[in-house]
Amino acid sequence: MLKKFFSYYKPHKRLFIIDFSSAILVALLELAFPMAVQWFIDELLPTGEWNTIVTISVLLLIVYLISTGLHYIVSYLGHKLGINIETDMRQQLFNHVHKQSFRFFDNTKTGHIMSRISNDLFDIGELAHHGPEDAFIAVMTIVGAFILMYSINPELALIAIVMIPFLVIVVAYCNKKMNAAWQKMYVKIADVNARVEDSVSGARVVKSFTNEEFEMTRFQKDNRGFRSAKLVAYNVMAWTTSSMYMMTRLVTLVVLVVGAWFTHTGKLTPGELVGFILFVNILIKPVDKISALLELYPKGMAGFKRFQDMIDEEPEIKDRPDAIVVQQLNGDIEFNDVHFNYDSHKNVLDGIDLSIHAGQTIAFVGPSGAGKTTICSLIPRFYDVNQGAISIDGIDIRNMTQQSLRSQIGIVQQDVFLFTGTIKENIAYGDLDATDEDVIAAAQKAHLESFIASLPDGYETQIGERGLKLSGGQKQRLAIARMFLKNPPILILDEATSALDTETERIIQQSLNELAANRTTLVIAHRLATIRDADRVIVVTEDGIAEDGKYEELVRQNGLFARLHNIQFQEV
Ligand code: ADP
Ligand code: MG
Repeated sequence: MLKKFFSYYKPHKRLFIIDFSSAILVALLELAFPMAVQWFIDELLPTGEWNTIVTISVLLLIVYLISTGLHYIVSYLGHKLGINIETDMRQQLFNHVHKQSFRFFDNTKTGHIMSRISNDLFDIGELAHHGPEDAFIAVMTIVGAFILMYSINPELALIAIVMIPFLVIVVAYCNKKMNAAWQKMYVKIADVNARVEDSVSGARVVKSFTNEEFEMTRFQKDNRGFRSAKLVAYNVMAWTTSSMYMMTRLVTLVVLVVGAWFTHTGKLTPGELVGFILFVNILIKPVDKISALLELYPKGMAGFKRFQDMIDEEPEIKDRPDAIVVQQLNGDIEFNDVHFNYDSHKNVLDGIDLSIHAGQTIAFVGPSGAGKTTICSLIPRFYDVNQGAISIDGIDIRNMTQQSLRSQIGIVQQDVFLFTGTIKENIAYGDLDATDEDVIAAAQKAHLESFIASLPDGYETQIGERGLKLSGGQKQRLAIARMFLKNPPILILDEATSALDTETERIIQQSLNELAANRTTLVIAHRLATIRDADRVIVVTEDGIAEDGKYEELVRQNGLFARLHNIQFQEV
């Protein structure tokens, strides 16, 4: 784990070296200070040479100024190093999330990802900056101070150093406890984030059910869970810092009393005593740093472990090394004995055989939950089949790169996901290389022109978060315009108009028919009136494909489809 952690320093080696060496210089200057004071009191003062005293004071001032500059470098460059590493990791995590397959998003809460990208990484960045530097400086200072103290008076130095082993034991013990506590705390803060994300994106639903109280109570539970977890960690931390405080003060007192006695009996000069007390302070300082590290290390490492766990999660669907880049597919789609399930306890598809000819329009109908959407999600390889194979133009889709395969398939769904931004940006999402003219042409094909013209900002109109300022029909038209721009040979319309009223549906249907022309089109339809002209209708039930044929044929067959047909057209 530590080795992985340090690998993130590599790109910032130079920064690390400058920061680290400045920190060492600061520590050396610090160690020299008590020696200078001791010499000042014992050697210089008795001579009464004021000229030298003034010169030495000026020299000290210069040293202080240098030290101040070094402090600035250590503080600024150190944080720069931390934030550089944090930024690298954040980008890596974001990129990694976008490499994941559908199943990952089925099972991961958005709030948990957000939590990792913000809280966890902040702590890792702090550790990356303070960790190695502070640990090294602390050890160096303790060792350096001890050697110098020993050279002044070995007995007194040994008394002072006795606290270090105790300290190490306390540190190690608390470290273990705190690690567990922070680990729990991270899980809790992720829960809080997940709840906020869920509840706020669903705020309109909450209001319509007047369930605000329920949401607040539910949030309170997560919020308090987080508080308790953090309190446990803080409690361990408080115990640690206060016991350290007690030990360090005790040592100062003992050194003062014993040192005073030594001075009285002539074993120690007054300058040495002052120098010694200053050294004890220097010895104590890294103890503060160690106690700060004690908080930082387990916290940052717990965050790093969670980060690493996510980074280590391989995408479920990967391109084969020899995968081919397909271009301009015709759109002959073949399902060969396809078995599929989302999780092992229930098979959704059990041996589907299906052959679709390029350029045809195929309609899928059947009860909800039968597996129509599932069949269509297998074609762009959002999930891999468990058994059997799917091929397009005779090539197994697992032998194509995912990117090239998906560039050949367009999907319009019932709920259109639009991004916060302008109308233009959302249409252009269909083809990031599109020019303004392309976007306008696509909007025209989707019959969006007059609507856009009626808006004060036209194409630059902001559509609100996820397009909430648009009506269902307008959103659907935007999705269609986006698809005209993408211009894929294979088109999947998954209940694209089911959420619309009949009048809007009729108008949108026209645009969809224009979109479907010259493409292989799979239509999942709810209202049968929209699929009268399909080349083939396939009836899907939970047991698989029940009927397959032309619309009129199926009505004449008097089976399941005829029943659906009669129900829908009786009322008209
Ligand atoms: P249809 O589109 O015909 O209404 P679906 O293909 O959406 O049906 O669903 C088929 C079955 O698969 C249903 O039982 C549904 O609960 C299940 N299902 C759909 N999507 C998922 C998913 N992402 N994870 C787990 N189960 C799913
Ligand atoms: Mg469906």
